[in-house]
Amino acid sequence: MKLLVTGGAGYIGSVVAAQLLEAGHRVVVLDDLSTGHADAVPEGAELVRGTLRDKALEVLEGAGFDAVLHFAAKSLVGESVERPGLYWDRNLGESLALLDAMRETGVDRIVFSSTAATYGEPERTPILETDPTRPTNPYGATKLAIDATLTEFARLYGIGGVSLRYFNVAGAYGRFGERHTVETHLIPNVLAVAAGTRESVNVFGEDYPTPDGTCVRDYIHVVDLGRAHLLALEACTPGTHRIYNLGNGNGFSVREVIEVCREVTGHPIPANVGPRRPGDPAVLVASSEKIQSELGWKPEHDLRQMVSDAWAFLQSRA
Ligand code: UDP
Repeated sequence: MKLLVTGGAGYIGSVVAAQLLEAGHRVVVLDDLSTGHADAVPEGAELVRGTLRDKALEVLEGAGFDAVLHFAAKSLVGESVERPGLYWDRNLGESLALLDAMRETGVDRIVFSSTAATYGEPERTPILETDPTRPTNPYGATKLAIDATLTEFARLYGIGGVSLRYFNVAGAYGRFGERHTVETHLIPNVLAVAAGTRESVNVFGEDYPTPDGTCVRDYIHVVDLGRAHLLALEACTPGTHRIYNLGNGNGFSVREVIEVCREVTGHPIPANVGPRRPGDPAVLVASSEKIQSELGWKPEHDLRQMVSDAWAFLQSRA
């Protein structure tokens, strides 16, 4: 297939672009490089630099694309609370531009990066796709609005869409890994201590109603996540929009994650407990039953593998 990968210079987009190329697909990456890196685009993929508003139509026009994988987005929760307008404009606005360009050019399949943040503070775990969606920040709200738009575009214009709601993505795939300028995620921040680029890790609260008092999250290896995109691509059915959760179904606390990082790196990794980070739910764990039974997806990598792959990636760049 000939595929457009938006945001293919970013962490998850670059991993999936590499996997698509290995599976024999042709890949064009569209990325404005606002947070991504040109050298993260895998060899064999063509890079077009620009926003979806400026370039999506031009790229798709008459070029024989079969489908789009849409990763390009602003994704910092805290920033979204400070600048909601920016998030609505970039996430929903740019996605609408992409969907309009797809309609105009007759490209009718899309796999979209949605998020567990669409659920907000869950009433129960593990979270099912049918559970209430009440995002607690503009980032989650914009992703939920795009999911809703995809449902409408499927009904009205025959688009075949799959939204994948990612839980906590971690790990690396060879030379493709996490390289955020502003790093907010737990595992890269903990590993940065082992690598000597941070003094210590801050644990955001230990008074949550969880076994050790720290927040529990469902970590999924980026390679397992990527495989789900290839299955989702095959499953895009014109006129239908499907939503799947993507996680391992296991929860690990912040303290457990730090402990695994200590074991993998052999570094003591000092940790300081600080106040809660506003907006963090106590427990977020996915039920991935639906994608497992409908698409035959299964997670294959555990937390230790995620940490050791992320660690190898970090060391390779030191
Ligand atoms: N966390 C932490 N210290 C950090 C980064 C994150 O204690 O330096 C906690 C955070 O409060 C959350 C969990 O680790 O409970 C996972 O956070 P992350 O930002 O990686 O992902 P999120 O679940 O927010 O998408």
